[in-house]
Amino acid sequence: MAEPVSDIKPHWKWITESIHLMLFLGGSVNGPVCVLIQGAGFWAREVGQLIGFEHPTIPVHHQYVVTATVPEVKALKTELPVIRDLEGFGKELFESDLDRIMDHVEMAMEMVPVLKIADIINIVSGPITYTPDLLPMVGPHQGARNYWTAIGFGYGVIHAGGIGKFLSDWIVTGEPPYDLIECDPNRTSGVYELLKGKASMGFHAGWEQPHWFYKPGDDAGYKPSFRRTNWFGPVGRECKLVMEKVGVVDLTPFGKFMVKGKDSQKLLDRLFANTMPKVGLTNISHMLTPTGRVYAEVTITQLTPGEFLLITGSGSELHDLRWIEKEAAEGAYDVDISNVTEDIGVLGVAGPKARDVLQKLTQEDMSDASFKFLHCKPIQLAGINLRAIRISYTGELGWELYIPQKDIAAVYQAIMAAGEDEGIDNFGTYAMSSLRLEKGFRGWGAEMNCDTNPLEAGLDYFIKLNKPADFIGKAALQEIKAKGLKRKLSYITMDTDDVDPEGNETIWLNGKVVGNTTSGAYSYTTQQSLAFAYLPVELCSVGQKVEVEMLGRKYPAMVVQEPLVLTEPTRTRLQKKAKSKA
Ligand SMILES: Cc1cc2nc3c(=O)[nH]c(=O)nc-3n(C[C@H](O)[C@H](O)[C@H](O)COP(=O)(O)OP(=O)(O)OC[C@H]3O[C@@H](n4cnc5c(N)ncnc54)[C@H](O)[C@@H]3O)c2cc1C
Repeated sequence: MAEPVSDIKPHWKWITESIHLMLFLGGSVNGPVCVLIQGAGFWAREVGQLIGFEHPTIPVHHQYVVTATVPEVKALKTELPVIRDLEGFGKELFESDLDRIMDHVEMAMEMVPVLKIADIINIVSGPITYTPDLLPMVGPHQGARNYWTAIGFGYGVIHAGGIGKFLSDWIVTGEPPYDLIECDPNRTSGVYELLKGKASMGFHAGWEQPHWFYKPGDDAGYKPSFRRTNWFGPVGRECKLVMEKVGVVDLTPFGKFMVKGKDSQKLLDRLFANTMPKVGLTNISHMLTPTGRVYAEVTITQLTPGEFLLITGSGSELHDLRWIEKEAAEGAYDVDISNVTEDIGVLGVAGPKARDVLQKLTQEDMSDASFKFLHCKPIQLAGINLRAIRISYTGELGWELYIPQKDIAAVYQAIMAAGEDEGIDNFGTYAMSSLRLEKGFRGWGAEMNCDTNPLEAGLDYFIKLNKPADFIGKAALQEIKAKGLKRKLSYITMDTDDVDPEGNETIWLNGKVVGNTTSGAYSYTTQQSLAFAYLPVELCSVGQKVEVEMLGRKYPAMVVQEPLVLTEPTRTRLQKKAKSKA
């Protein structure tokens, strides 16, 4: 038997003291590649520490009992729901400790009474590995080239075949064979607690972020249900706030990177399918995989010539950074990439009164003529230097303020005080999600991911197939376009009762499954349930009727023209046009 790995030296080719955990592959663009896959089971944390990582995995004592044959069970004609193959396990793993699990054994006996008379012949007891969200960490790891993990398996025996295939396909082809973002090793980052106590907090990639805010009389707390639950009314109140007045949302968990240096534009032009914004401007850009699927969606601003700020969602920080760093290294680009996620806090201020409130706190001219949509400026607000981008995922008039982390509380307090007359208040990510769906904004991870191409996701506007740079996925996308699409993202509304779509619901037509929703919500502005859904192209026309299955019932639904609510910049443009005609 080989000696345990006790040292790993980060290198273009990994060097370990034994080759126990190594896999060699030949023939990449720059020569031979050595990929190190860490799969040390319940020792994953210790092995990760050898190269400076703190993988969030922990071994937990796991036990189960094995009974003698139970005749009543043996006589069953149907399969039991859970069957375990015990080959490979023995009670020598750990000393058994039946007392610790006796409560559970008794509960099992209540549920399955024949267990009361079954003889226990064996107790299997050993370490099982868990991550904070119980899912494994599978794929390349950001921060160390060619270091991959396959760790954190609570139920690794059943996963083994699929994970092995997933990893080997990704290593050989250079892209994930399908979307498995839930198991991405880089899905967690720091922790930030702002506004705790006033809101029902959500857990987003290691950050706490308000889902919705309490008011006196609200049924506070987390009351999970697939039906409309205690937050339904309060979220409607927050949507109304943003549509009619002004709201503030904490967006600090966004991932934020600075990319600068001689080759910054060249690198980003290679990575992104959109053209890069000019200095002082912002756009939405997508990184594609070589086969033309959506790897990431990023908001890009060129701050000064050659200096770019990249902003991504909370769950995709290291997932995106890893891809950018890999391309930068492999293409030998002369760039400086830094992760500034934890240095910069973000507040979103949105609603028709957003301009009035912010104008009270700054000398900068915030008018539409001076501070246009998708423009970015360094401004002083409440005496603090920050960057303001005129953009809002709510689709309403709004700014995202990028503030040094140490100043975010002061800026927040100044905005709340300045907006008192305008009725300013907080809103959370649930309201944001409903508002963005009403505007027809796609969400990364739902409407677009490694299972979808940007054309079927309706992202054509952001994909510049004519730009001179040969961006990753360009050739594949041209081919996809030439062949034509089989399915498209559609916008559907439905007649429901007390249940709203959340995404991943099945869509039926004439008793056949024809598609699935990707995300959904209740539209408080138009008072109906709505969702995005993938449907075959022949079923995408406006007016097409389908059924959406929720909680075992099929609800009538229809493809409608998107969006349900026009965005503020579009409304303003149409108003100006109408005025100039009058
Ligand atoms: C009691 C019990 C019951 C279970 N029941 C089930 C079940 O019914 N179904 C199921 O799917 N899963 C079950 N599991 C979980 C399953 O056993 C694990 O999820 C699975 O074995 C994990 O596989 P792995 O390859 O990630 O890690 P492991 O199987 O732990 O393999 C890791 C390997 O890395 C080696 N290693 C560690 N450190 C070093 C080092 N420094 N140098 C060199 N080598 C090193 C180890 O020797 C080991 O061979 C059970 C686990 C327990 C404890």
